[in-house]
Amino acid sequence: MMFFRDVVGQEEVISKLVADADKGTVPHALLFRGREGTGKMQTALAFARYLLCNHPENGDACGRCPSCVKMNKLIHPDLHFVFPVINRSKTSGKKTLCDDEMGRWREFLLTHDYFGYDEWLEALDADNKQAMIYTEESEAVIHKLQLTSSQGGYKVVILWKPEKMHITCANKLLKLLEEPAPQTVFILVSDNPEQIIDTIVSRTQSVVFLPVPYEEISRKLQGKGYMLDARQAIELAHLSDGSWLKALQTMRIDENSQEFLNIFIQMMRLAYGRKLKELFSLVKEISEKGREWQKNFLTYSQRLVRENFINNLNCPELTYMTPEERAFSSKFSPFVNERNIEGISFELSECQKHIEQNVNPKMVFMDFFLKLIMLLKQ
Ligand SMILES: [Zn+2]
Repeated sequence: MMFFRDVVGQEEVISKLVADADKGTVPHALLFRGREGTGKMQTALAFARYLLCNHPENGDACGRCPSCVKMNKLIHPDLHFVFPVINRSKTSGKKTLCDDEMGRWREFLLTHDYFGYDEWLEALDADNKQAMIYTEESEAVIHKLQLTSSQGGYKVVILWKPEKMHITCANKLLKLLEEPAPQTVFILVSDNPEQIIDTIVSRTQSVVFLPVPYEEISRKLQGKGYMLDARQAIELAHLSDGSWLKALQTMRIDENSQEFLNIFIQMMRLAYGRKLKELFSLVKEISEKGREWQKNFLTYSQRLVRENFINNLNCPELTYMTPEERAFSSKFSPFVNERNIEGISFELSECQKHIEQNVNPKMVFMDFFLKLIMLLKQ
């Protein structure tokens, strides 16, 4: 992992980075921007590996030199990370720093090829706490960059989610971004660059990550490691919205999709038939599943409701459903129409929001089912 060749798509971005590195014209502060799941962090890691590699070959790091060996474990002394953390410090005035979470962070990166912010929060056991890059972090970075690089080459700082920086931290880092030490490269990686203060953005060179073309995602899904058949791959690629992360997540949902479909069918039948007693026991069954399962089920339900609505509009060529889903849809889709589609989608996303906020799942799902009963009558 963490080579350019592992990034899905983004050839143009990568060849520009390689060309800059080969010519020695790497900007000292880059801002990788684009939506989640487009490969920004993976490209940042591969670029760091490339810059630090002793013998890069064919436009990628060699994978064998002493530097690459350290990169394999993410313990290269010239690679530094800044990322949001949860403050676990009991004493006021002393905040948790990235170094305190470095073991967890390395483990996380080494076990997740592509990941989103929510997955990191989960790895942090964040519950409902907010993660942040605290003011004190700027001192730590400044200190690290004062040390000379271990092999006389580049020093690379990957700053993940600069939009989570405390304003004071951002202001303190401004000077570093403006007059960096020689051969120091900052890579800021952001899903929400509009939330970063302008003075930071204006000191960086933007590198835009476009959504990954769906052909690219489909090809990758049919290749080594995934081996989906063409039909499955194309369906998944369409659902992924240009995000490889979303393709991976949807695939995980796919593994549970038979179970999800069964529960979805029960839920709709019982709600339509106003079978309150049975709905109560279904609520009980759902609430005993984990929060992750519940979130995935709701994502799945969102998709199925949307597909059924499109099916109802008599545009079956625009839907992406498995044969089992299609069979159910032929009977169910008349009940999803322009009068209730917005309401159902809205209630599903409210339900998802409340589950994410740790509200009691029994209450959340019961509330949703009662609304569903009304909506299906419309
Ligand atoms: Zn190497």
